[in-house]
Amino acid sequence: MWECPLCNRNFKNNHEPHFCGDKTVGDFLMGKSDNSLVLFDHFILKFEEIGPIKLYATKSMIVIAADIRFAYIINLGKSFVDVVLPFRELHEENLCFRKMVLVPGSNDYNHHLRIMHKEDINDEVFEFMKKAYANGKNV
Ligand SMILES: [Zn+2]
Repeated sequence: MWECPLCNRNFKNNHEPHFCGDKTVGDFLMGKSDNSLVLFDHFILKFEEIGPIKLYATKSMIVIAADIRFAYIINLGKSFVDVVLPFRELHEENLCFRKMVLVPGSNDYNHHLRIMHKEDINDEVFEFMKKAYANGKNV
């Protein structure tokens, strides 16, 4: 067992690759299943392939930001991670989103994604992640 000194998360292997965030993120992830933590780390590391990100935790979710926030992890279940990608436009043609919801009082559509396997982050999802990331860059 190894505890990362930065985020206080516990791992089976020393220096297991993961994304630290800060202690509030560590708190949010505390007690979550190994399965969902593996999916969480995989998802975050995929975003890191696109560009640098920061994580923040609120009471109910983890916020992913570049210059500004652009994605949310709203739930870590036993065997899945639920993610929301907000877009200004509705992407109806897709195979990956469970539902798309207009955010009340805005022109944004929340696109809901459930990750149950690492392979769920396929090329299609990765393209949407790039789109979301672009929205997180200040222009
Ligand atoms: Zn860490």
